[in-house]
Amino acid sequence: MVTGKTKVIGLIADPIEHSISPILHNEFSCHLNQDYIYVPFKVSSDNLETAVHAMKAMNIKGFNVTVPHKVDVIKYLDYVDETADVIGSVNTVSIENGKLIGYNTDAQGFMDSLSVRDIDLSCESACVIGAGGAARAIVYALIKMNCSSIDIFNRNEEKAQRLSNYMNNKFQTSKCASFNLNELSESSIRKRYRIIINATPVGMYPNIAALPFNEEILADSSQVFYDLIYNPEQTEFLKFGLSKGAATVNGLDMLIYQAAYAYKIWTGEIPDQNIIEHIKKSAIADLK
Ligand code: NAP
Repeated sequence: MVTGKTKVIGLIADPIEHSISPILHNEFSCHLNQDYIYVPFKVSSDNLETAVHAMKAMNIKGFNVTVPHKVDVIKYLDYVDETADVIGSVNTVSIENGKLIGYNTDAQGFMDSLSVRDIDLSCESACVIGAGGAARAIVYALIKMNCSSIDIFNRNEEKAQRLSNYMNNKFQTSKCASFNLNELSESSIRKRYRIIINATPVGMYPNIAALPFNEEILADSSQVFYDLIYNPEQTEFLKFGLSKGAATVNGLDMLIYQAAYAYKIWTGEIPDQNIIEHIKKSAIADLK
């Protein structure tokens, strides 16, 4: 029940109607018996600054930030933690002693989704398709997981090159390399990537028949196909991996683990694996 003591957490985005974050966070509070309510706020880019100041004025505990505000919100915050600073975007803001502190929990969500499956990428090669905001968090996570090499393929090759150079400079490494998406097929023959990650929206509902690559790529059962998309549950990309015997992971786990980590930042409580599995079922039902 909402009372005068209930603490408020928000989400700012535009559009917001399809977000499943309110379901995840309100379920966390319900299962953990925490007196918090999570509320969606549709905020246009023109109103971002006003909305962020209003969050502070209304003594809100914190809020999530998603499309299209993850980068622009940074200029209205007091501090940004190291991970969010390197990734260059914020998806979680905590309001502590009147200060707005920005975090990025996407990389942690991705890492947790692999560790629960006992997938260890240390000294392994990785392939990332896409070089947008999500790919930045993924490349950051792959470096933190000590991958031996990270090949970034993008339709706009220059963008992949910028991301690769940026991460190599930040981490004083030469692990990242960039390629045009057209080179993926050939590269998959030369290099047997341990993990191939689709960090593009290609294959997402309603255009579910699309694959993020045009030419067939070489794949086998030693690999992991990871799609950041979670609607549909099984994209064409994941179906392709499955047909080669590869392990597959969709984006729902990353979404839930990043949410769990954000919830911990605001409340100090973290949902356990049983709660997460239970909530995953509700989320899947909601997506259908
Ligand atoms: P973004 O910043 O807009 O980047 C999109 C990327 O996809 C760019 O590299 C773009 O290439 C590429 N792309 C778009 N359309 C393409 C096409 N038709 N063919 C080939 N490449 C194409 O988007 P984002 O924020 O990174 O999000 C990417 C995906 O990750 C989305 O599906 C999003 O929903 C998902 N995501 C999931 C989670 C999760 O927790 N599961 C979290 C964040 C994001 P160009 O540079 O050439 O345009």
